[in-house]
Amino acid sequence: MANLRLIITLITVLICLFSSFTKSSNVIKIDLPKSLNLTVSTDPSIISAASHDFGNITTVTPGGVICPSSSADISRLLHYAANGKSTFQVAARGQGHSLNGQASVSGGVIVNMTCLTNVVVSKDKKYADVAAGTLWVDVFKKTAEEGVSPVSWTDYLHITVGGTLSNGGIGGQVFRNGPLISNVLELDVITGKGEVLTCSRQLNPELFYGVLGGLGQFGIITRARIVLDHAPKRAKWFRMLYSDFTTFTKDQERLISMVNDIGVDYLEGQIFLSNGVVDTSFFPPSDQSKVADLVKEHGVIYVLEVAKYYDDPNLPIISKVIDTLTKSLSYLPGFISMHDVSYFDFLNRVQVEENKLRSLGLWEVPHPWLNLYVPKSRILDFHDGVIKDILLKQKTASGLALLYPTNRNKWDYRMSAMIPEIDEDVIYIIGLLQSATPQNLPEMESVNEEIIRFCKDSGIKIKQYLMHYTRKEDWIEHFGSKWDDFSKRKDLFDPKKLLSPGQDIF
Ligand code: FAD
Repeated sequence: MANLRLIITLITVLICLFSSFTKSSNVIKIDLPKSLNLTVSTDPSIISAASHDFGNITTVTPGGVICPSSSADISRLLHYAANGKSTFQVAARGQGHSLNGQASVSGGVIVNMTCLTNVVVSKDKKYADVAAGTLWVDVFKKTAEEGVSPVSWTDYLHITVGGTLSNGGIGGQVFRNGPLISNVLELDVITGKGEVLTCSRQLNPELFYGVLGGLGQFGIITRARIVLDHAPKRAKWFRMLYSDFTTFTKDQERLISMVNDIGVDYLEGQIFLSNGVVDTSFFPPSDQSKVADLVKEHGVIYVLEVAKYYDDPNLPIISKVIDTLTKSLSYLPGFISMHDVSYFDFLNRVQVEENKLRSLGLWEVPHPWLNLYVPKSRILDFHDGVIKDILLKQKTASGLALLYPTNRNKWDYRMSAMIPEIDEDVIYIIGLLQSATPQNLPEMESVNEEIIRFCKDSGIKIKQYLMHYTRKEDWIEHFGSKWDDFSKRKDLFDPKKLLSPGQDIF
């Protein structure tokens, strides 16, 4: 009798173990009717690649991956998912450069958007129609052949058009031309019901505004019409060092206020911390040890980064403009370095860093990144509380810290993307782009939590960018006055809540 009980207990344990294994690995078979004419790949290497992202923090296993050959394939898939007997969720995936599984779907279908690439420049060269899986680097290459280019850029170009527009797309040109979402004229979108809709500010505006910065919640973008302008040939690219935060931000803010004058075309800023890796390589070899010593001496050094684009015939005028601008800035005397590079090399600068990190095995590591918008009125409190008190006191900091102001009126409030809901003209973009090891990841994540807590306790009204919340109340707080519209749009365009479940909103 005792033996029988032991055997039953053992069998029960084995059944439990087996079912928990299948649940955690989420290998759910997706059976699509033949009439859909779609191939769902369950190849282990494809499933494994689709289970991870750039963040290297989460693993979420999909049931299958499709590589669409046209937007009609996506429409049939979503139409079936919304109306078929077996409901599964669907996530569009660009390069999977998300940080916390935002492009994932547990047990559902991943649509590999990089299967859909194309760039067609309009006859008048005022815009390009771009398939959503195209990388920005390829948008540049194709448009530059015609002497034109998009007007606003992210720092990194190996991300997809659709994935970026679902977030916002920010970088050093935002103060002049707005985020990438502000430079879109029209979209083709397949809603969660499988409808194919074209939308713009005039046509289906509810969908247009919803999808831009909409975290993939209302539809899958298949085509975007992107604004183009003249593509300059070259860039004068500068970095200048400051030891005083107020002087640094004053110069940054003055430069971004010159939107209607001949000022710089690009502006960002970095922070060098004495407990972090100080990359002095932008400076000539003879100055690199001086830069490193400066960081050691002050603990924190602020790096103003600007660029002025030009074509060769304009060089004499541009040189005069640059001379006047740099003379008006209050950086530490002698601590300025300039590179004269092609426009493409300037825009594609992060790929050089990627290649370096890949060769050292440091690209595919956990990335507990924290991206924030901070109101200008509280940037000094943020600096004192976060940079001086939290980051500088970390045992070691690794990765890059960005800090630069931008003009708030370049965002269109009707779009889903959120920035602080404050009555101020300038907001700061902060990127704490840390790299971790599996061992120190928890410590770095708790530093991020400490930063968020500090901002909350000090009443600094930040908004996160590329955020990942798991509690509904955090999403409601994030979307603030836009939450009601956001959830109404979900009911309208994706009532079965099929799309991008990795964002954990609904
Ligand atoms: P994914 O990560 O694959 O997808 C992002 C989200 O969009 C997911 O929810 C997904 O389901 C959804 N989605 C994807 N495609 C579509 C589509 N066609 N239609 C609807 N929903 C879709 N961002 C900036 O703004 N500025 C920067 O300077 C910047 N620099 C970066 C540098 C590096 C090295 C990296 C790795 C990322 C950087 N990013 C930057 C972040 C980048 O914008 C995000 O990673 C973004 O998610 C785009 O990546 P992706 O194309 O791989 O999209």
